[in-house]
Amino acid sequence: VVKIGGRLYTYRGSLQEIPGKEEALRAYKRLDAYVKEGGYSAALRLLEERDRSFVLSLLDRANLRGLGGAGFPTAAKWRSLLSNPDRPKYLVVNFHEGEPGTFKDRELVESNPHKLLEGTLIASLVLDVDEAIIAVREDYEAARAVLEAALEELRAFLASRGAAAPPISVVSVGGSYVVGEETALLEALEGRRGEPRVRPPYPTERGLYGKPTVVNNVETIAVLVDILRAYYEGREPAVEKRYSVTGDVERPGVYVLKMGTRLGELLKASGASDVKAVFIGGVSGGLLPGDADIALDFDGARKAGVGLGTGSVIVLSNGRCIVDAMYEVAQFFAAESCGKCEPCRLGTRELVEIMRRIKAGRATEEDLKWAESVAKTMMETSLCGLGQAAGKVFLDALGRFREEFEEHLRGVCRAGVCFR
Ligand code: NAD
Repeated sequence: VVKIGGRLYTYRGSLQEIPGKEEALRAYKRLDAYVKEGGYSAALRLLEERDRSFVLSLLDRANLRGLGGAGFPTAAKWRSLLSNPDRPKYLVVNFHEGEPGTFKDRELVESNPHKLLEGTLIASLVLDVDEAIIAVREDYEAARAVLEAALEELRAFLASRGAAAPPISVVSVGGSYVVGEETALLEALEGRRGEPRVRPPYPTERGLYGKPTVVNNVETIAVLVDILRAYYEGREPAVEKRYSVTGDVERPGVYVLKMGTRLGELLKASGASDVKAVFIGGVSGGLLPGDADIALDFDGARKAGVGLGTGSVIVLSNGRCIVDAMYEVAQFFAAESCGKCEPCRLGTRELVEIMRRIKAGRATEEDLKWAESVAKTMMETSLCGLGQAAGKVFLDALGRFREEFEEHLRGVCRAGVCFR
């Protein structure tokens, strides 16, 4: 996403303007339309329940795992908060989406904000929190405006029914990629520099202002609506996943498919052909060869040695150079590193320097070995996911496309994009 003259653009073959605030406010699904489709029916029924703990076993049954990328069992996180007697308790909805190629949360909120708000209501009631905060990244201006308008509608709706629910607020949070890391987000919400904290303690133990806090991603919270509605309608809950697809495909966008959909099916649906490699989980999950047809769920990804992460895929066709792509990835991580821990601060810069030399045909076999050892150290010792992911994706690229790196040592770039 780039900002030119105050307007936001995204690059999809050519620069395309991202809908502005006014357009987004015109287009989103209003409360009336949402309610007509059964919206808020699950939350309103939950409000009537005296004991809401059954929702935890529902989440277990649906096998809901954190859809921000890590896949931690949601019910386990919630139990950890519920077993903490300290008060006040907070729910923070993480809408600081920043992974490359990932826009699944923005698309959801801009089209159907009430689904996120209903999910927030459901989570707040089950967790018995004192306040829920939806933390929106600063440059998601349209999404924030839509959420604020929808929240006004919801407040009037609840008041007209005399329903008392925990307060929900929408807060804009600035900062870079790393502010999406949950403890960096908490720091930022407290008014400090957005740098990750050492965990444990996890936020459920000591979170916002040192108090018990559940931090859940937008998609995880929105999916609660499907799970609870299925329960009240006597259906078996099933989790759908939002996959954003970009890169060398004919139809980039967000695909909502069953969890566990094969990567090949997603690539076909998006019109990808001649695929050389696929970045998974944005780029943080790792890099797969183009013919890897894995199941797109947490276990399927793990079996293939990558992480599902945000579920986003970036497709590279055979015309692309892996070294060139990895140079960009290295630059991204170096620019976004907060610098708090050495392995990440120094390692990300070192990888950029080495990639620059490889691209220019000035690197040696020794450089590749050194880069490998730097990447391993980053993966094993960085404070948060940023440095760990930067190391992991580099090792994937080197492991799976070593031949191409070695060709560059001999001055050969098969895609013809380096040495120019
Ligand atoms: P993590 O596995 O360390 O933690 C996941 C969640 O589980 C956290 O909320 C954590 O607090 C909780 N948790 C773990 N153990 C716990 C325990 N014992 N008790 C209570 N809670 C516990 O992962 P992470 O570092 O939070 O996140 C990494 C992921 O973020 C990556 O997989 C990546 O895909 C994803 N990511 C997403 C984006 C995005 O834009 N959505 C951007 C970058 C990275």
